[in-house]
Amino acid sequence: MSTIKQDEILSVLKNEIENFESKTQISETGQVIQIHDGIANVYGINHAMYGELVEFETGIYGIVQNIEYKSVGVVLLGSDEGLREGSSVKRTGRKAGVPVGYGMIGRVVNALGEPIDALGSIKSDDFFPIENDAPGVTERKSVTVPLQTGILSIDSMFPIGRGQRELIIGDRQTGKTSIAIDTILNQKGQDMICIYVAIGQKASTIAKLVETLKKHGAMEYTIVMSAFASDLASLQYIAPYAGTAMAEYFMKQGKDVLIVYDDLSKHAAAYREMSLLLQRPPGREAYPGDVFYLHSRLLERSSRLDDAHGGGSITALPIIETLAGDVSAYIPTNVISITDGQIFLESELFFAGVRPAVNVGLSVSRVGGAAQTKAMKKASGGLRLDLAQFREMEVFTQFSSDLDSATKELLDHGNRLMELLKQPLSHPLKLHEEVILLCAAKNRMFLDVPVKEMKNFRQELLSYFDSTEPDLIREIEENRELTEEIENKIKDTVVKFKSR
Ligand code: ATP
Ligand code: MG
Repeated sequence: MSTIKQDEILSVLKNEIENFESKTQISETGQVIQIHDGIANVYGINHAMYGELVEFETGIYGIVQNIEYKSVGVVLLGSDEGLREGSSVKRTGRKAGVPVGYGMIGRVVNALGEPIDALGSIKSDDFFPIENDAPGVTERKSVTVPLQTGILSIDSMFPIGRGQRELIIGDRQTGKTSIAIDTILNQKGQDMICIYVAIGQKASTIAKLVETLKKHGAMEYTIVMSAFASDLASLQYIAPYAGTAMAEYFMKQGKDVLIVYDDLSKHAAAYREMSLLLQRPPGREAYPGDVFYLHSRLLERSSRLDDAHGGGSITALPIIETLAGDVSAYIPTNVISITDGQIFLESELFFAGVRPAVNVGLSVSRVGGAAQTKAMKKASGGLRLDLAQFREMEVFTQFSSDLDSATKELLDHGNRLMELLKQPLSHPLKLHEEVILLCAAKNRMFLDVPVKEMKNFRQELLSYFDSTEPDLIREIEENRELTEEIENKIKDTVVKFKSR
């Protein structure tokens, strides 16, 4: 090769490099080559990024999901009406995001943050991408502040801390949603913003749920986001991410946020549907290979930030539905391994009248112990052990008639504990109420109360405390400690109540 030719090539290359336009052209327009089931194949927008929002000529948006050799796969975020082969598609250069802000509180919105409650438009403060990096380890602080659920069995044995991720798992109709909703109701006056993300549920179910929240004044601090069962799979897929984006806005301002994902089983199913339509290869149970990443990158965004970053937190309560109590199925094991513990609800218990149907043996909270108040820790000490002993002894003595007095007491005590842990819907307990009940149970003060009368007895006992011991209640609520003095006072009051 002659030197002249080399020089020529070099100058051409230099010229190319100098004039290289590194800026992506966001005015790029392409055409639909194929459209079906909420998925469009688009030719001619070669520089589109993964996750970028594109606009179709009918005004609806889509998200770029597959980048292939000659075309890109786009999932539609709206109806495909009016779109056909050759329809134009424009890049926006933006990642998909949702409006966020305080105006959202008290509203019911769809997965795009648009109001669906007929209360007019929402004034947003900012626009956040739905996908965001989780806070790094150096930005985080360990969980130390409790999130009171108001549900005695959970607060006493599986306490949840602000910034924790606690899974609620169980078969259909075992009270999973109820636990999440009661927890939201109990956040009244706790300086907490709640976000309930419904995925793949019926519109009538959500209407009822919003009604319950309104009735208890909980909509004042709650956002309900819903991607209905009738919505596109793409909307069901982005809903939890969009909800989390809203939560992040508040967390960055130092607020504490509680977010419920109801439920992630349906979320995984929506993602499977979308992936199969995008012709991604199916893996185990036909879920795509990245279904673990789907949930891990979502839940990892819940955290508690350190003071340098505002000290806010996102506590997540994801919900998973199991089939016939099988917690070892694919999606349940994935989410169990991503969260910091699980509350396992069991149909058998539910139908036996133990509601909430928490299975004490299989439930666990891995980090919440550090956040439990001293008062609760002391009052609930030994409760799990007592229940475990009771269950074992109950099976063992099922068919025997004459029991020694120690065994009999253990059974009597256990039966009353089981009664105590039953709790009606929409009746979360306050901290002092939980402490009083547990303290009385710990000192075996319910043994002379017939099991059938436990429900009324505890109700009346708590009202008696309310009317006669306001100072004691205030002390428990403020100091959150259970000193010997307070414990004695509780015992005395229970004795007084019994002899009244
Ligand atoms: P799904 O699988 O349909 O989502 P779920 O597991 O979320 O159901 P819920 O809808 O919370 O269950 O509750 C199922 C039914 O049980 C509801 O009718 C609810 O009223 C009732 N229920 C739940 N918890 C309790 C409780 N603690 N006391 C009495 N009834 C309850
Ligand atoms: Mg439910």
